[in-house]
Amino acid sequence: MKDAAPQKIYLSDYQVPNYLVEDVHLTFRLAPESTRVLSRITFRPNPEASSKDFFLHGEDLKLISTKIDGAAVTPDLVVGGLACAVPDATFVWEAEVEISPATNTALEGLYMSNGMYCTQCEAEGFRKITYYPDRPDVMSVFTVRIESDLPVLLSNGNPVASGEGFAEWHDPWPKPAYLFALVGGELINHPDTFTTKSGKEVELNIYVRPGDEGKCAFGMEALKKSMIWDEEVYGREYDLDIFNIVAVDDFNMGAMENKGLNIFNSSCVLASAETSTDMNFERIEAIIAHEYFHNWTGNRITCRDWFQLCLKEGLTVYRDAQFTADMRSEPVKRIEDVIALRARQFREDNGPLAHPVRPDSFVEINNFYTATVYEKGAELIGMLKTLVGDAAYYKALDLYFDRHDGDAATIEDWLTVFEESTGRDLTQFKRWYEQAGTPRLAVEESYEDGTFTLTFSQSTPPTPGQDQKDPRVIPIAVGLLNPNGDEVVPTTVLEMTEATQSFRFEGLTARPTPSILRGFSAPVILERASSNAERAFLLAHDTDPFNKWEAGRALARAGLVKMILNGAAPDGAYLDAVLQVLRDDSLDPAFRALALGLPSQDDLAQTLVDQGHTPDPQAIYEALETLKMAMATHMQDVLPRIYAQYQVTEPYQPDAEQSGARSLANAALSLISRVDSGTAAQAQYDSADNMTQQLAALAALLTAGKGEQAVAAFYEQWKEDRLVIDKWFGLQISLADPANAAEVAAALTQHPDFTMKNPNRFRATLGALAMSPAGFHRADGAGYKLLADWLIQLDPLNPQTTARMCSAFETWKRYDCDRQALIAAQLDRILAQEALSRDTQEMVSRIRNA
Ligand SMILES: [Zn+2]
Repeated sequence: MKDAAPQKIYLSDYQVPNYLVEDVHLTFRLAPESTRVLSRITFRPNPEASSKDFFLHGEDLKLISTKIDGAAVTPDLVVGGLACAVPDATFVWEAEVEISPATNTALEGLYMSNGMYCTQCEAEGFRKITYYPDRPDVMSVFTVRIESDLPVLLSNGNPVASGEGFAEWHDPWPKPAYLFALVGGELINHPDTFTTKSGKEVELNIYVRPGDEGKCAFGMEALKKSMIWDEEVYGREYDLDIFNIVAVDDFNMGAMENKGLNIFNSSCVLASAETSTDMNFERIEAIIAHEYFHNWTGNRITCRDWFQLCLKEGLTVYRDAQFTADMRSEPVKRIEDVIALRARQFREDNGPLAHPVRPDSFVEINNFYTATVYEKGAELIGMLKTLVGDAAYYKALDLYFDRHDGDAATIEDWLTVFEESTGRDLTQFKRWYEQAGTPRLAVEESYEDGTFTLTFSQSTPPTPGQDQKDPRVIPIAVGLLNPNGDEVVPTTVLEMTEATQSFRFEGLTARPTPSILRGFSAPVILERASSNAERAFLLAHDTDPFNKWEAGRALARAGLVKMILNGAAPDGAYLDAVLQVLRDDSLDPAFRALALGLPSQDDLAQTLVDQGHTPDPQAIYEALETLKMAMATHMQDVLPRIYAQYQVTEPYQPDAEQSGARSLANAALSLISRVDSGTAAQAQYDSADNMTQQLAALAALLTAGKGEQAVAAFYEQWKEDRLVIDKWFGLQISLADPANAAEVAAALTQHPDFTMKNPNRFRATLGALAMSPAGFHRADGAGYKLLADWLIQLDPLNPQTTARMCSAFETWKRYDCDRQALIAAQLDRILAQEALSRDTQEMVSRIRNA
């Protein structure tokens, strides 16, 4: 049953559940098109509820029978579930339903992927498995029996019994239905064990399809490192006898933290030197950690309702970033995170999809698994830690775990813990959760008689539904450098609470150069007039690695804007400054590789909008190409030396040291290929023994216009490996000449290996086009039309992935009238589809009504 008019749900309408669940027994009789699900659930009236109405969620279920306390009953089937008259006392509900995993292409609830049964229940997938109060504040103990001839049958918790054609599992920890999981298939196990701090032995398994068993070792090591790290840093131990991970090819998200049975998109767990890049390895390590960390921040303490999603996601993203910083390089991780935050979250905050970190309404919760909830949510945790200090942060976390273990909690609960343990009033800080939009932080400075004054003003532009914003508390980390480049004031955190506020530094002997917002201490846009000379000075001398990198980026951006608007030549000062960084062997190679990077096309488009111009995507692309060619020429003498110096000769390891060296050598190769006709890239391609080297060489060959042979050879070599072929699809589109990127993408959708049923492949193809601005925004609208054609085809099969990819259009109001008209026509065409999903309807309407 589909809702006729999708209903908006409001945080302010929250009501406690009318009935609580004491225990749940589920039996699954697995069959591809006719799985039977038998449920036996003990309900008890909630003494705190004001209503006795009994309602269970349920969607796409065929109801076979229902009983209360053993007697047959006939419930009323209503939109989204069922209602029934029930006793005013504890009672046992039994139901039998039939579902069809094989035809479930939405990949929510129980579905099949390559012959394997698996589930995805967050946020509201459990209602597609059986009738249940499918809300996170209803927590219960689950016992599950799975009947099937398949050799591997898994669910949450600990195994309690198994035999010919069945397995039983019991999870002693009460959990909401969204953490339920089931897997059945012919899977191979990569086993290990872990002994917790208190001496408890835990069985660890990674289950994969036959053929993938050689790609589990790295993930297993990452899991064990995560378990140790959470014990050491947060004092959190694992709490079951067994921890299982399963890799699934068809999956909408990255991975899912179901209690004791994490289910992963295979792209986020399978790793080998031959098939995964260094970036893949780093991401896999981080995602395994993230899902594992959810065992405490998400599972033991869950969310009261879906408006509180950032409670588990912001905190867990913050924790996984801390973990990566500890395992690898803290500055490099911070720079990478800020690049991603600006690319995704600032973009979201600046457009029609802007929403608070804790939204106050939604139509479809799947549309709120966003960069704002996750990445900005994590920034808020980082700011809170900066404001209260490290010791107070961990003390507050201990109180949070003590007080709320077993709870379905709220942002208020979270902040109260900090208020009580530190004595600090967080009323103003809470605005970060409630107000959408990225604050602009303007700075003015003066120097007189040895006193340097910084005056900050904050303002946040209006966002949908929020015109007025109140000043927020902003931690601003500042350091001061004297004219010879020495640091005279080390990093100091200024706490801004007013709309406009001044801070004084006294006793200086000369006017200093300020380094503001060190480490990116708050998710704001710094608006400060600066000269290229000052940027070059900070790039050379700043002791804060983030701001050192930031200075180089600002210098590059300023030069590019002049090239785009006035047809200026590449800025010589930038070329000299970045050459200095490249040559400086005392700097971390990974940092130098990042310093060689340029602002993205999307970043430049937004910069132009902020300066009052209408961006021309093709002009932006051409300016970047011109600058890269100028860099290649300007550094011609140094690049081959760097390339040779940072070749790794030891056996491949995906660690920070080796991957840093490879990232610098490959950044050099990318520039060298612009002037040597691809000779060095071809040599690297021919000798590569790992995917990082092979893919970088392929990219450099494509950039040099010499990729044809390598593209064909790459396909022949890897056609049996889905994850590698995803890279092959994506690279050809993202590196295509924008003049024919849409045609390249269209041709690849006709390739026999293209399938829209696999979200990874769909994103690798249409997502790559959407993320190549010059190609996607081609003036004739071919990119828009191609994407809309495929979104319309995908929506009936997989609403979640369709809706998420609609965000490709979220920046449309930036562009000229012709492009806006072309995009509006495609958005209207999508909205005019009959039976458009609730997910896509909500997303496209929000974008269209901007
Ligand atoms: Zn998560």
